[in-house]
Amino acid sequence: MIKFLDLKKINEPYETAFQEKLKSVLSSGWYILGKEVQEFENNFAKYCAYNYCVGVGNGLDALTLIFKGYIQLGKLQRGDEVIVPANTYIASILAILQADLVPVLVEPKLETYNINPGLIQSKITSKTKAILAVHLYGQLAEMDIIHDIAKQNNLIVVEDAAQSAGAISNLKSNAVAYSFYPTKNLGALGDGGAVVTNDFELAKTIRSLRNYGSETKYQNDFIGVNSRLDELQAAFLNLKLPTLNADNEKRKAIAKRYLSEIKNDKIILPFWDLSNNHVFHLFVIRTKNRNDLQNYLEANNIETVIHYPIPPHKQKALESWNDLSFPITEKIHNEVLSLPISPVMTMDEVSYVISILNKY
Ligand SMILES: *Cc1c(COP(=O)(O)O)cnc(C)c1O
Repeated sequence: MIKFLDLKKINEPYETAFQEKLKSVLSSGWYILGKEVQEFENNFAKYCAYNYCVGVGNGLDALTLIFKGYIQLGKLQRGDEVIVPANTYIASILAILQADLVPVLVEPKLETYNINPGLIQSKITSKTKAILAVHLYGQLAEMDIIHDIAKQNNLIVVEDAAQSAGAISNLKSNAVAYSFYPTKNLGALGDGGAVVTNDFELAKTIRSLRNYGSETKYQNDFIGVNSRLDELQAAFLNLKLPTLNADNEKRKAIAKRYLSEIKNDKIILPFWDLSNNHVFHLFVIRTKNRNDLQNYLEANNIETVIHYPIPPHKQKALESWNDLSFPITEKIHNEVLSLPISPVMTMDEVSYVISILNKY
């Protein structure tokens, strides 16, 4: 069986080093916001080439706290509109809602699956104050164009980089949110997330918001939350961060083979603009009869996953949007299928997947 993603195999190489870290965290007697989190924040800020990093509990909170931070700073007001792709994982949209802001959905390009920048301007109103760009499947959204639009309209730009750790964009955004959920390109052994930014005031505010709105113990400045990156998760991430680039290169090498060797008219391969970084969090193909292809692959011992079967605007949780029409988003959700891809997948396994797909 070729697993969709073998997390055990991905994390095994770090076992011995992590046991040492575990001992040292255990014997330090300090388990929340200690030296591992501090070290990770320094390492990850440097890696992302932003000045500040704040470790938080998960990717959704990283996004939510960016918006709540800007509300606290008076740069956003409750009820302001935020442009967000209709074709995304629902967490992008939930973050906007949880900060009492209003998501305005924009269709993607069918080729890239990412937001179509050409459609953004027509959605901008006097209430629009920010754009949340999502780098879906690990492919950077068209950030240069997005920043031009933002500049013309005086908008804050936030990136949802949950799926694109390592695919550093043009570094012009106000803040970038990361997730270290175990399946992500930089995955922890549980939940974790981070915000990176060059905005000192924002970093300071999020640092407080993640900790009950408190900077000085028992003195609360904001209505905050409890969402701190865990010391043990940070310790594990400190061990894994140095291999993230090499892991992403392995993903890209597999993607290159899939792109050049899968030859089947029934399968639409993903678009990869080599000038735009893509770290292939997922390798997503499209096909008209997805059920049939997924069953065929399953019968040939190849595990696949659908990212995602139901678009956000069709979810029960967002019932008031269920009648809205986003045909490109809906088409993508009906046709996508994610093939196995990971830094631990062998080239023999890749060859097997290709040969089975070419016989379909
Ligand atoms: C995973 C993910 C998130 C949320 O991250 P969590 O750590 O699971 O909260 C947000 N946005 C996108 C695009 C994601 O893929």
